Amino acid sequence: MPSRKFADGEVVMGRWPGSVLYYEVQVTSYDDVAHLYTVKYKDGTELALKESDIRSQSSFKHRKSQSSSSSPSRRSSSRSRSRSRSPGRPAKGRRRSASQSREHKDDKKKTVQETSLALPAPNMKPSENNTKRYNGEPESTEKNDTSCIILEQKLKPDLEIKHVLEQYSLRSRKDDKKKEEIYSEKKTFVAVKPIEKVPSKPKELEFGGRIGTFMLIFLLPATVFYLLLMCKQDDPSLLNFPPLPALESLWDGRVFGIFLLWFFLQAVFYLLPFGKVVEGLPLSNGRKLQYRINGFYAFILTAAAIGVLLYFQFELHYLYDHFMQFAVSAAVFSLALSIYLYARSLKAPEEELAPGGNSGYFIYDFFTGHELNPRIGSFDLKYFCELRPGLIGWVVINLAMLLAEMKIHNLSMPSLSMILVNSFQLLYVVDALWNEEAILTTMDITHDGFGFMLAFGDLVWVPFVYSLQAFYLVGHPTTITWPVAAAITALNCIGYYVFRSANSQKNNFRRNPADPKLANLKFIPTATGKGLLVTGWWGFVRHPNYLGDIIMALAWSLPCGFNHILPYFYVIYFICLLVHREARDEHHCKQKYGLAWERYCQRVPYRIFPYIY
Ligand code: NDP
Repeated sequence: MPSRKFADGEVVMGRWPGSVLYYEVQVTSYDDVAHLYTVKYKDGTELALKESDIRSQSSFKHRKSQSSSSSPSRRSSSRSRSRSRSPGRPAKGRRRSASQSREHKDDKKKTVQETSLALPAPNMKPSENNTKRYNGEPESTEKNDTSCIILEQKLKPDLEIKHVLEQYSLRSRKDDKKKEEIYSEKKTFVAVKPIEKVPSKPKELEFGGRIGTFMLIFLLPATVFYLLLMCKQDDPSLLNFPPLPALESLWDGRVFGIFLLWFFLQAVFYLLPFGKVVEGLPLSNGRKLQYRINGFYAFILTAAAIGVLLYFQFELHYLYDHFMQFAVSAAVFSLALSIYLYARSLKAPEEELAPGGNSGYFIYDFFTGHELNPRIGSFDLKYFCELRPGLIGWVVINLAMLLAEMKIHNLSMPSLSMILVNSFQLLYVVDALWNEEAILTTMDITHDGFGFMLAFGDLVWVPFVYSLQAFYLVGHPTTITWPVAAAITALNCIGYYVFRSANSQKNNFRRNPADPKLANLKFIPTATGKGLLVTGWWGFVRHPNYLGDIIMALAWSLPCGFNHILPYFYVIYFICLLVHREARDEHHCKQKYGLAWERYCQRVPYRIFPYIY
């Protein structure tokens, strides 16, 4: 491969993926492994382009002057190419016989429109007509992205383009035929050549880079074991360090066997042919993966299995007695899984690597996850681990703690605190499984690779740290009154309402922006074709779902009283996690949406906590 043709900082013309349009862009970097240029459009959108999709400005100007002259020979060749590849285009004869001369006229208009769009780039002014029709948003918002909207009419996948055409139609019915033409043009292009947005290397490393991720690999397990050891103590004050247990006491082959049994039982449930199969969001190569939605069935089957075990007098508090050994087993398993994931990712094609976990640094990629969607056949390892063994395991652990409390304190009924903690967290888990499909639009699935971070998080951190309140209550009984319990329940309900409605709103909007139920919501269009909601929950703060989640986290800790800070670890950690996650997401959204994101931030200034942050 010859050396790169364009230098960093050079202003060139970059083809918008999936289209025939060129915009003025600036080269920001070059990946000499993937042979891709990272370029920045005028609206701030950054994309990775192949050299063949970039032209020097001078050559573009030359080409443009040709096209402006509407050379018949040039037009006819481009049209015949398009038609011959288009499965969705009307039949040749029909189109010609309908109105040959009008079509020529439209075609000419279209060429002119393309040319004029290509020149001023994404900051050009919208037509007055369009501005008035746009979604009720104030003028400042409308104007900025309209060029992108017109552009998108040629780029969008099937459903989205229809919506955009309906929403932003310049001349609603009059130009239906023209829209159809544009739409079919798009289909032609997509069918032949999907968007070539191959993940490039991340420019900035997250989590403190190589040193940070190296330390986290040790720090995360150490934190889990520290918390569990603390919780076992009579006095779990922060400075009362627990004595370290003998190493051999941490490992029990039988416990490891039970863990494996649990993991593979959940895998069997995942493979059962119950539940619908849905498509995920499009990957960088335009492909969509299929996912079976049967997490809730897996939960029901697990509940039935646990019921049978209890019926046959199986002592579930075995989990409590060997809690540390279970945590060690899960940690060993997640480490082995991470090593396997990294090893297999080395053979994965470049386009299947995670955008954030492809730095080329072993430790960093091992931690953040190198491959985006590792699968064995149709078995999606990340998707499975996200919601099954760890999440369902969490409520089973909680139940074991409840039984252990009754047994140890000789109670005929669990304490009110224990009932609240169990019920709140059960609701959270059941909700996640019931709305399993919503996970397909989250960062974990769409952006993060599957590596140590998620493997350890899903299989160790979630079940063993999130159950800390229930574990704490077994050793540190806490009495709360009914009015206090009612107030905490109300808090949890508020948190849940905010969390659920915000997540559903965004998820429904992403899945079907044309959904009539969302017709009252306003959004800012972006250059990628996706809108950013600016009313409803997403107009309240920029991460309303995090706000709801944090309110719930507080409600889970309050039943443990105020004697120790340990049961509040979850809410403190969770605020830190979500503040950091929010910053990561902002960063990605800024890159994805450029100016549109900035406008969204102006419209919705608070990130998570209204009037505070
Ligand atoms: P979100 O569900 O918050 O998704 C963020 C994405 O939403 C953005 O990247 C963007 O993606 C899209 N988006 C942002 N703003 C808008 C807008 N205004 N309009 C439309 N779309 C917008 O991300 P997470 O995956 O972090 O969280 C999902 C849920 O999981 C949350 O409720 C969170 O609290 C919870 N969670 C729980 C954890 C736990 O341990 N219990 C851990 C982490 C998360 P795009 O535009 O590409 O669609």
